[in-house]
Amino acid sequence: MKKALEENSIAELKAKLRGHVIEPHDRDYDDARKVYNAMIDKKPRLIARCADAADVIDCVNFARKHDLLLAVRSGGHNGGGLGICDDGLVIDLGLIKYARVDPGARLVTVGGGCTWGDVDHATHAFGLATPSGIISTTGVGGLTLGGGIGHLTRKCGLTIDNMISADLVLADGSFVKANAEENSDLFWAIRGGGGNFGVVTSFTFKLHPIGTIYGGPMLYELREAAEVMKWYRDLIKTAPDDLNGWFAFLTVPPAAPFPEHLHLKKMCGVVWTWTGSLPQGSMGFIRRDCSGTGARTL
Ligand SMILES: Cc1cc2nc3c(=O)[nH]c(=O)nc-3n(C[C@H](O)[C@H](O)[C@H](O)COP(=O)(O)OP(=O)(O)OC[C@H]3O[C@@H](n4cnc5c(N)ncnc54)[C@H](O)[C@@H]3O)c2cc1C
Repeated sequence: MKKALEENSIAELKAKLRGHVIEPHDRDYDDARKVYNAMIDKKPRLIARCADAADVIDCVNFARKHDLLLAVRSGGHNGGGLGICDDGLVIDLGLIKYARVDPGARLVTVGGGCTWGDVDHATHAFGLATPSGIISTTGVGGLTLGGGIGHLTRKCGLTIDNMISADLVLADGSFVKANAEENSDLFWAIRGGGGNFGVVTSFTFKLHPIGTIYGGPMLYELREAAEVMKWYRDLIKTAPDDLNGWFAFLTVPPAAPFPEHLHLKKMCGVVWTWTGSLPQGSMGFIRRDCSGTGARTL
């Protein structure tokens, strides 16, 4: 049986960190262990809100020394709840949130706890963007390490196509850089291999000159799904790279800008992004005739 963690070991960890450690008896424990998927109800022994890479190194060493299961949490969006664990130590990167833009070099370096909304906010001021996902609250960490597909993918590639470097804390507590020149095998692994190679404290991404885009969802009745999917498949094959579509089955959110009569209705649709100039985007080549005569591209 695993040895119980001694109070003085926990006190030692707390004293070392610039961030803070949350335990089951703390008031903020239940909030801190919540993840996006509300069906996940895991109860870690400790949640360490790390403030910097040094905190992450201390936590990794602590988990190894005490033989604790370790989970790494960035945005907490993972469907299976991989960013949290029972009985172990959670390294919560949520406080490591910074995004430094170098507009000349068209690069952004971001902390491992950023969401994509944080990154977009920082880069948009310079008329620049990097491909992320569909919504802004997803963590940079999990999405990038899994590949990353989103609104700008047809134009600029996957998120990992744009990651040029990362800083990681490895399981032995060492701190390394991974890019095309340094630790290139590790760099290969973290571009799609998930979160098992180390704790990424910082990512650097290429930026593209993309400011305001035109986009939004087009919704259809569920009974039209097969027809819409075929139409979408044929359209996107030959569409310019400035057009990105994301086909979705969804429950319409009960909020603006969706019209009230559609709220909570189950529908299908495509969420569009157009990164080109407005005149061509507004010519209507993504209009679809729903009059019952079949789909057509105008
Ligand atoms: C509403 C929603 C929308 C989504 N949209 C998209 C989308 O448009 N495109 C897309 O590609 N995916 C999308 N996803 C999937 C999403 O990318 C994955 O679920 C991803 O794992 C979430 O990352 P996270 O950091 O928020 O999650 P977390 O649960 O915090 O982490 C997920 C996994 O990555 C590991 N991890 C996270 N950060 C680090 C780090 N810094 N270092 C080491 N390991 C780390 C964790 O340990 C865990 O295994 C979406 C998910 C949801 C719930």
